[in-house]
Amino acid sequence: MRKETKCIEGGYNPKNGEPRMVPIIQSTTFKYDTSADMGKLFDLEANGYFYTRLQNPTNDYVAAKITALEGGAAGMLTSSGQAASFFSVFNIASAGDHVVASTAIYGGTYNLFHVTMRKMGIDFTFVDPECSDEELEAAFKPNTKAVFGETIANPALIVFDIERFAKAAHAHGVPLIIDNTFATPINCRPIEWGADIVTHSTTKYLDGHDATVGGAIVDSGNFDWLAHADKFPGLCTPDDSYHGITYAEKFGKAAYITKATAQLMRDIGAIPSPMNCYMLNLGIESLAVRIKRHCENAQKVAEFLQANENVSYVTYPGLPGDKYYELAQKYMPDGTCGVISFGVKGGRKAAEEMMKHLKLAIIATHVADAHTCVLHPASSTHRQMTDEELLAGGVKPDMVRFSVGIENADDIIEDLAQALEASKNI
Ligand SMILES: *Cc1c(COP(=O)(O)O)cnc(C)c1O
Repeated sequence: MRKETKCIEGGYNPKNGEPRMVPIIQSTTFKYDTSADMGKLFDLEANGYFYTRLQNPTNDYVAAKITALEGGAAGMLTSSGQAASFFSVFNIASAGDHVVASTAIYGGTYNLFHVTMRKMGIDFTFVDPECSDEELEAAFKPNTKAVFGETIANPALIVFDIERFAKAAHAHGVPLIIDNTFATPINCRPIEWGADIVTHSTTKYLDGHDATVGGAIVDSGNFDWLAHADKFPGLCTPDDSYHGITYAEKFGKAAYITKATAQLMRDIGAIPSPMNCYMLNLGIESLAVRIKRHCENAQKVAEFLQANENVSYVTYPGLPGDKYYELAQKYMPDGTCGVISFGVKGGRKAAEEMMKHLKLAIIATHVADAHTCVLHPASSTHRQMTDEELLAGGVKPDMVRFSVGIENADDIIEDLAQALEASKNI
């Protein structure tokens, strides 16, 4: 199946007489005839459901659809993108370990890594995605367990050179994890470029309608854990909490996701509700159509902004001349995303004034969905960061993040035109 078809048909194949739509199995619990039957599930000796904190059929149908779209071997849904980022790393790194991460990542991911996971004893080295080979090499340590980057960084719109970082990660015997939220599998499939694990905030384009918070993790199944068994004892030595099962031996290409489900979901419980997964699935059905429209609209808006005298700069990897245009052409020849960033002449104050005058585009701590929305990262999502940290992540203090929706592009442009005009008055 092609990606457009997978959006509709992937993950769930009803049998004779079964419901056409993914059923909402809104049940915490599942019934068994004997304790022995249930015991097999607890021992991971049989597949099945017993308690929705670990797994639920609705969730699994939708995870299977996203897995198919990304071209992975196994996948799972989480209650948020943050939970997906956390699980993706914590599944293979623990106290005393180290991770190499791009500086150009979502602010929430940066806080998670730099503050919260450091408190758990996991060390991070942040590297500029355009660092030299020597700098990248120097970032790795003997206890490095993963490399983490974002296809198109939110909000800096820096395109990550997935192939380059995959090679570096593999040369050091560790997997590359890519947050593919902004590109979506419609525009980029990081696994095809060597990424081992892909994460999503499904809250953004996958859901696409401001409706549900969620996350996903997809494993390519390509990383050979047993070949680096000394680095990944959690996957390559027996798990006492499951009677001595060794994930990499017993589950093959599903080892990473099985471990994340059986250990992390069991213990931490960041599971999405089946109802939310049902709504996420509805969103994904139109993903390919929406993404095409987001990109067409964003291209028109970016070109308008570039020609506007009140705009000091425009960042959009789909614009010829953009610093990341070539990389975007390589990884995302069909389009990048619907998010643009730009500066307003007059700096931070003019940007805030302009935003006050927008009528269609709403100010929202959100991005990447059907409704056009706008945000000033330095005073909202990224306000915990120092100016140096902001600039290292590609976020200028006067930068406006503009998420182009799927309304008529002319309405979005007219709204921007009048607000930019009004911003001259300060
Ligand atoms: C929003 C976002 C996240 C966090 O996802 P939540 O669903 O809000 O928890 C992670 N990565 C990227 C790129 C995001 O845009």
